[in-house]
Amino acid sequence: MPLYEYQCEACGHRFEVWQRMGAGSQGVSCPQCGSQEVKKVLSTFASSTSASAPCGSSASSCSSGFS
Ligand SMILES: [Zn+2]
Repeated sequence: MPLYEYQCEACGHRFEVWQRMGAGSQGVSCPQCGSQEVKKVLSTFASSTSASAPCGSSASSCSSGFS
């Protein structure tokens, strides 16, 4: 499941959300102020996912509950 970056339009806080591929911003709220006025931000995280993947390089061993 990909990690998306959002920015809150109310307070400007940036945060990341694990979402299903193609999911919209429905249900996403700012963890800082609680506003749902958030917009998806294109970030550069994709270039570093291999280095910081939560489950390591072996997807079959993932059991962290993100499914
Ligand atoms: Zn906010």
